[in-house]
Amino acid sequence: MNVSTCAGVKTKGGRCTAPTLPGQEWCYGHHPDYAEKRRRFASRSHKTRSASPEIGLIKAKLTTLAEDVIEGNVDRSNAAVSSQVYNVLLRAISVELKIKETGELEAQVEELREMVSRDNDKQRRSAFSWGA
Ligand SMILES: [Zn+2]
Repeated sequence: MNVSTCAGVKTKGGRCTAPTLPGQEWCYGHHPDYAEKRRRFASRSHKTRSASPEIGLIKAKLTTLAEDVIEGNVDRSNAAVSSQVYNVLLRAISVELKIKETGELEAQVEELREMVSRDNDKQRRSAFSWGA
């Protein structure tokens, strides 16, 4: 039997229409062997998203600062200096996040590369039985 579409079921119901991995019954998204890796990728990108509570904090402080300036509660020159400092902080944080993200992406690319080369090996080994 030549299965070409995934045997998995979509989260919203209905059959998955993604093409299967070579010689497998499922696509990458449904293959049980990759479930652990998918979970790790998901939790990692979640970590990246929530890794910047400081940015939310600074945004809130800048918003308050702006309101204080408008309402005349704060000296304009003090507000200007404060916002400059916050700006520098924001830049430092975003550089830090970018470095972290790049490292995580590199690790993920490396894992995917290993996965693909393993699949290619499998495909080569089963090429004769497939008549390819
Ligand atoms: Zn699927």
